[in-house]
Amino acid sequence: MPQIHVVSARALAEYAMEKGDLIPGGASYARMREGVRGHQALQELLPVNWQAEAPVSRDIEADGHVLRVQGRADAAYVGPDLVCVKEIKTTGRNPDAIMKYDYPVHWAQAEIYAAMLCLNHGVDRAEVYLTYARLDGRMREYREEYDIATLDRLLTGYARLYLGWITAVDDWKEKRQATLERFGFPYDGYRDGQREMAVATFRAMKRGANALIEAPTGIGKTAASLYGALKALGKGYVTAIFYLTARTTGRRAAEDALDRMREQGLAIRSVTVTAKEKCCLLDSMDCMGCPHAMGYYDRRRDALRAAVGMQRLDAEAIRALAEDYGLCPFELSLDISETADVIICDYNYAFDPRVRIKRYFDTRSKAGLLVDEAHNLPDRAREMLSASLSGRRLYELRKRVMAFEGKESPMVRLMTELLKALRCDADQEPEALSGMPEDIVEAARRFAEAAGELNSPEPDVREFVFDAQWFVNVSRRFDPECYRAMLLPRDRWLLVRLWCFDPSKHMRRALARVGGAALFSATLAPMDFYAAQLGADGEADEALRLESPFPRENLRVLRLPVPVSLRDRERTRHTVAQVIHAMAEAKPGNYIACFPSYAYMTLVFTHYRMMWPYEDAVCQEAHMTEPQRMAFIERFKPAPTRSLVGFIVLGGVFAEGVDLPEDRLSGAAIVSTGMPQLSFERETLRALMDDADDGGMDAAYTYPGLRRVLQAAGRVIRTETDRGVVILMDMRYRQEKLRELMPPHWDVTDVGKLSGLKRELAAFWEG
Ligand code: SF4
Repeated sequence: MPQIHVVSARALAEYAMEKGDLIPGGASYARMREGVRGHQALQELLPVNWQAEAPVSRDIEADGHVLRVQGRADAAYVGPDLVCVKEIKTTGRNPDAIMKYDYPVHWAQAEIYAAMLCLNHGVDRAEVYLTYARLDGRMREYREEYDIATLDRLLTGYARLYLGWITAVDDWKEKRQATLERFGFPYDGYRDGQREMAVATFRAMKRGANALIEAPTGIGKTAASLYGALKALGKGYVTAIFYLTARTTGRRAAEDALDRMREQGLAIRSVTVTAKEKCCLLDSMDCMGCPHAMGYYDRRRDALRAAVGMQRLDAEAIRALAEDYGLCPFELSLDISETADVIICDYNYAFDPRVRIKRYFDTRSKAGLLVDEAHNLPDRAREMLSASLSGRRLYELRKRVMAFEGKESPMVRLMTELLKALRCDADQEPEALSGMPEDIVEAARRFAEAAGELNSPEPDVREFVFDAQWFVNVSRRFDPECYRAMLLPRDRWLLVRLWCFDPSKHMRRALARVGGAALFSATLAPMDFYAAQLGADGEADEALRLESPFPRENLRVLRLPVPVSLRDRERTRHTVAQVIHAMAEAKPGNYIACFPSYAYMTLVFTHYRMMWPYEDAVCQEAHMTEPQRMAFIERFKPAPTRSLVGFIVLGGVFAEGVDLPEDRLSGAAIVSTGMPQLSFERETLRALMDDADDGGMDAAYTYPGLRRVLQAAGRVIRTETDRGVVILMDMRYRQEKLRELMPPHWDVTDVGKLSGLKRELAAFWEG
C-alpha cells in the first residue's frame, strides 16, 4: 500500500503554478479579514442550487504514490451533465485592471476543484468562473470551459509535479527518523540539571503543555532543551522545532549544538531565519523593483528542491543559495522553514501577528517551541502587540513628499487630513486612556486604506503606510483589560500609541495553538510572576528551578552600601570608581563595571580615566556596529597579565548573552539595582498593576531591574573551573525583598568599607 500524501487544493495550485514577483509587505492582515467578509457577501448571492464552501477530496495515483487532494471550492454546482466552479478572489487592485491570465495559480486552483468534482461525479463537462472583487463592490468575472479529459490531464500533471517534491521531503524525513530513534545525548555525560531540563522539555511537548525552566548560566541549556525536543520530534509529538532567540550568540549556540549532534550521527535539517535588514543582498533595502523579488516565484521551486539535500542552512548557506537562484534570502529562508526540522529564529516569527510564520502559528499546529532567554519575552510581546502613529514623523514625511510631488498630490492631501487629527496644544499633558481615541483611529483608517492604494515609490512613506495599517489593525483588537491608548505630545504633534501593557492573554492563546513549549532563562525570579506574564501558568504547565552545577565557593558575592540614586551620583562617583579599581587591582584579570544608564556610566568612566590614566579601561558606546562590538569583546583575552575594565550598560548588548568563559572574565561590579528609568509608560504600568494586585512597583521596576543585574552577574561563572567576584553597589540591596530574590546558590557577604572589600578580595583570590 503506497503512502498517502495529503495536500490542500490551494497549496497544490501554488506549488504547481505559482509565478511572479514578491509583493513587498504582502497582503495586509486587515485586507485578509476583509477578504473573508467579501467572500461571504458574494457567496450569499449564489443561485439556490449552488453550494458555498463546497467540500471536495480525491486520491490521485501517480508514479507509484498517492496524493490526497482536499479543499473547499468557494462555490460549486454539480448537475447531471455539468459541473460549475466559482473561485472568488478579493483584491485591493482595480478588478478591471486584472487580465484573464494574470494569475495562473488562481486558474489552477479552480481547475483542481472542477477536475475533482467531474471525476467524483462522472460528469463530462465543467465551467470555471474566476471572480475578482474589490471591497467597494467593483467586480470582474472570467469564464472558461473544460472537458473531463483536459481536467484529468491537468490534475495529474499538477499532482506529479507536487509528488516529485513531497516524496523528496518525505525520503529525507524517513532518513531523519531512523537516526532520531537511536540517537543519544551528544556529550559524555549530563551536567547537573541538564537531564531534568531535557526531560521537562520532552514532557511539555508530549503533553502539549509548557515548561518554565530557570536554569543558571553554564549548565548547557541549548543542548539540553534541543535534545528533549528532538526526542519529542522522533516520537511524533511535534512536527517541527522552533528555537526562538533574540541574539546572534543564541542562534550560533543552537547551530553549533545541532552540528555536534550531526557529528554523532543525527540527520537533521535546520534553517536560520535572519532579519531582512541583516540578510538583504542590496546595499539599500528597497524591495520594490528588487531583482531578487521580481520573478521570485518562477525560480523558488528549484531552490527549494536544492535545499532538501542540505542539513545546516545558516545565514551563509541561505545567502549562497539565494545568490545562486537569484532570490531574496529572507523570503527563501521563510519558505525553507516550511519543511525544515529545526527553525532558528527570533521570537517574532512565532508571536508577532504581523510576521509570524502562517503555516505554524496562524492556526493550530504541532510546532514545539524552545524559548531562549524567556525573561525578555514579555517586553518583546508588548512591543509586538502595540502600534504607534507619530504626528511628528508624518509632518516630516509630508515635507519630503511635497518637495517631490507638490502640494496637490493625492498622498500629500491624505497626509494633511491625518495630520489634522494628530495636532495638539503645546501644553497638552500625556494621557493614558482606557478607551480608544475614535476620531484618530477613524482618520488613520481612512488614510491607511487610501494611501495603501497609492503604493508610494518612497520606502519611508510605504513604511509609514504599513504602520498606519497596523495601527488600525491593533485598534480592532483593543481590549481595555490589556490595552491603553497613550496620547503623548511631541512638539505640537501627538504620538499616539495603542499600548499592550499586559501581553499574557495573547501569549496564552499563542502557546495553546502549538504542540508544547519550553521557556527557559537564567533569570525568571519570581517564577509565578513570569509564568503569568508568559501565559505559561495553566494546570498542565510546570515550573522547574535548577541549581547551579558549579561549586558555590567559586563565586564570591560582596555587597556594599554605596548611595547611587540619581541625586547621589556626582557625590559618590569617586567611591564607585575606587570600588571598581579595587576589584581590578586585586588580581590581574578582565572585569566589567555595569551601570543603569549611559550618562551614569560616562560620568564614572571619565573619572576613572582621570584617576588611573595608565590602567586599561574601555567603554561601551551607543549604537555600536557589529564589528565594533566584536572588537570590544575581543579585548577580553584569555590569560591576561594586567587588568582590563569594560564599562557597560545593564540590559545592553554586553551585559546579556555574551559568553566569556574561564579567565576571560574574573568579575563584575554592578552599580545600582538596575531599575529602569522613570517614564510615562512605566508609571502607567505601575498604576495599572497596582490596581490589579498591588504589585505595580515590582512589575514595573524591581523585577526588570533585578533581571538585568542577574544577567550581568551571570557572565562571571560559565564553566566548572571559572572563579570570580560580583560586587553589588547600592543601599537598596539591603532590602529584604531583594535578598529573597537573589539566586539560592549565592552566598552574599556584606562589606562596609573599601578596606574591608580589599581584604575580602585578597582572601578570595589567595584562597
Ligand atoms: S533582497 Fe533585500 S531588497 Fe530584495 S526583496 Fe529581499 S530584502 Fe527586499
